[in-house]
Amino acid sequence: MLIDTHAHLNFPEYNQPGDDLPDTPDGKSWRAGTIARCLSYPMQVINIGVDYESSQEVIALAEKYPGSFFASVGLHPDDGFAKDFNIEQFSALIATHRQAVVAIGECGLDFYRWSELGSDFGKVYQKQTEIFRQQIALAREFNLPLIIHARASKDSDKPSAYSEIIKILQAENYQAGVAHCFAGTVAEAKQFLDLGFYLGFTGIITFPKGDNVREIAQMCPRDRMLIETDAPFLAPQAYRGKRNEPVYVEEVAKKIAELRSWSLGEVIELTAQNANKLFNLS
Ligand SMILES: [Zn+2]
Repeated sequence: MLIDTHAHLNFPEYNQPGDDLPDTPDGKSWRAGTIARCLSYPMQVINIGVDYESSQEVIALAEKYPGSFFASVGLHPDDGFAKDFNIEQFSALIATHRQAVVAIGECGLDFYRWSELGSDFGKVYQKQTEIFRQQIALAREFNLPLIIHARASKDSDKPSAYSEIIKILQAENYQAGVAHCFAGTVAEAKQFLDLGFYLGFTGIITFPKGDNVREIAQMCPRDRMLIETDAPFLAPQAYRGKRNEPVYVEEVAKKIAELRSWSLGEVIELTAQNANKLFNLS
């Protein structure tokens, strides 16, 4: 079955009808229409929390559509500036909704907008790494994989977010998870793979400027590939500029099939096997 391992169907982008996609026959909201298309495909979707509130929302979606939707809970590195990470609060949330939660994240390091987050890079770095380590502890507590978010700084004098994450994962000896929307170098990809991590491929693989991601997809072992949308963001080239939604993850699968000379069915099957192995979906 087609599995989108990274979406945000709880986000406000799905609150209102738009004009770029056919509405559902019942005329309900964009969220209802998007969910209906997922269910009728049929496919499975992991919705990803970015803070405590959105983690509650993705759990509610998973509990409303068991077997189709699953939840990942965590604090995104950008959101960690306005909010502190309360491990007890997240731990209690998971314990109460254990069936719905299949991963921790998205968590990691994001140095892209660091200057908007604080005037001192050292402080930004310290807080992000601390929140990331706490989420590794949470993942360990429940034996769950990590969904890793990384974004490089625009300034070349700043450390690589990927390298710093790899260092932390090595120091913590945590070996289960996915580098979501992977956009690092081949060398960094190899380090994640050596750690036992999976690589997540999004619509970027279909973009004209996606050469580096296509190169990674060529070298990634077939048992470590996952496909994802990051919906509502990163719509594949065929839908560029529109609101992304989980059914479009098929475009990512099609591109991998083309790059590797596999059939589309084979890509859907192998990525589903990988997702099941990592996230224990049922
Ligand atoms: Zn995301």
